[in-house]
Amino acid sequence: MEKTKKDSIDIQSSTPKKTRNRAVVTLVICALLAGSITYVLYIYTQNLLEERLKERIVAIVSTAATQINANDIEAIQTYDDLDKSEAKKIAKQLQDIRDANENIRYAYILRKTEDPNALAFVMDAETLDTHEEQEERAGIALEEDELAPGPGDPLEIDEYPALRDEAFFHPSSEDKLQKDQWSVQLSAYAPIYGYNQDVVAVIGIDVIVDDYLARIRSTLLPFLLFILFLILLLSFLSLLLIRYSGERVIFLEDLDRQKDELLGIVAHQLAKPITAIRWDLESLLDGDLGKLNAEQAEEAKTMKAQAVNLADLVSMILDVSRIQLGKMNFDPQPLDLNSFFKEIFEVIAPTVAQKNIHLVKNMPKTLPTVLLDKRYTRMTIENLLTNAVKYTPDGGTVTLDLSLQNGVMRCSVKDTGCGIPEGDKDKIFGKMYRATNVRNTVEGNGFGLFVAKGAIEGQRGKIWFTSEVGKGTTFFIELPMKEVI
Ligand code: ADP
Repeated sequence: MEKTKKDSIDIQSSTPKKTRNRAVVTLVICALLAGSITYVLYIYTQNLLEERLKERIVAIVSTAATQINANDIEAIQTYDDLDKSEAKKIAKQLQDIRDANENIRYAYILRKTEDPNALAFVMDAETLDTHEEQEERAGIALEEDELAPGPGDPLEIDEYPALRDEAFFHPSSEDKLQKDQWSVQLSAYAPIYGYNQDVVAVIGIDVIVDDYLARIRSTLLPFLLFILFLILLLSFLSLLLIRYSGERVIFLEDLDRQKDELLGIVAHQLAKPITAIRWDLESLLDGDLGKLNAEQAEEAKTMKAQAVNLADLVSMILDVSRIQLGKMNFDPQPLDLNSFFKEIFEVIAPTVAQKNIHLVKNMPKTLPTVLLDKRYTRMTIENLLTNAVKYTPDGGTVTLDLSLQNGVMRCSVKDTGCGIPEGDKDKIFGKMYRATNVRNTVEGNGFGLFVAKGAIEGQRGKIWFTSEVGKGTTFFIELPMKEVI
């Protein structure tokens, strides 16, 4: 219990700082998460668009491949063959393919060689162009070795995996974009088939994708930045909300504590005069102040009963405030359970008789003396029995089961009463909580079970219940105790 008190003090002094630190950490995590999500989204969308682009380029090159005649290709083996009409025809076809789209930079045909790591050019769209024409097209001066390749010129294919592994089998494109001093390009290839469906060569095109990539970036980036901003804004607003509700919780906890303190002070101040009134009425009834007539004695008895009720309520309120403030003090003393239960049965006997309740006691005939806090244990068991009688209709049954074994007292109180509705079950041990089915029909204050829970758990015991509306309720207690020999 002492621990509870310390906890509550710690919470009050350090919570705002902790909440602030937690808020900053959460915001940083949210920002990192939002950044990562946005980045992944960006990469994913970019890949998706690149895939679409590749599909389109592969479709273009596949169509182009169907236009080239395998016999024309076979006719061109060396530079000497460039004079042939087939060379002119192929050059024209390659130029048409290249010029069909301003982004196609190169169009060329390659065939296999003896060397598995190299292919040989058949022709390029510019092979028949003169040095000057090629320079004019490139817009810069070109060295001899930068001119368009001709028949038999080798091409190392190590850096072009799709060309090496796929191009002679099916239309394909390189995964990686190629960069040269002018632009970023994507290469795509398609096989060219002979009459008997053998692959005689591949046609390739290199497409400039700079524009496309720039367009992707310029449309995607603002969109993704907007998403990033939205996620961050949402995180920030949630944190503000959490912080605000955290502050409110602290404020309400503080208010609740102050109220408990006040309640404790008031109850404490009330306890003394009420006890005095009780004793005065007692001596009045005993005739210490002169003999009372029958009417006066009846009045004094009613007043005494009211004073007892009031004293019980005040002591209950004191217990509630002790539990709240973590100030419960347990005082285990040798307790003769025989007289302990006898006293409890005497207290509830009048109501049991009045309501014609069948009270069943399943307990050993003689009970030991054990070390327990009498006041709290009695308060708990008496409360469970009083409730069972109170919430059970006339003529019902209340059963008390009691066993003591291996240093544990097990006690259950079962009734055939109104039961506790599902929606109330998890709040029933709360302070001043009363179930909806009895709130307006049976009198009570909702302190009893709160104190009972504090009393049992404060002695390292357990308390719980099962209940079904209209059928009844059973409360269970397990309380560690020591037998006194
Ligand atoms: P009260 O003074 O209202 O009886 P308690 O704290 O003892 O206060 O009980 C809290 C609430 O638990 C009761 O108002 C009632 O709704 C419910 N309750 C407790 N015991 C029983 C029972 N044996 N049968 C049905 N409801 C019960």
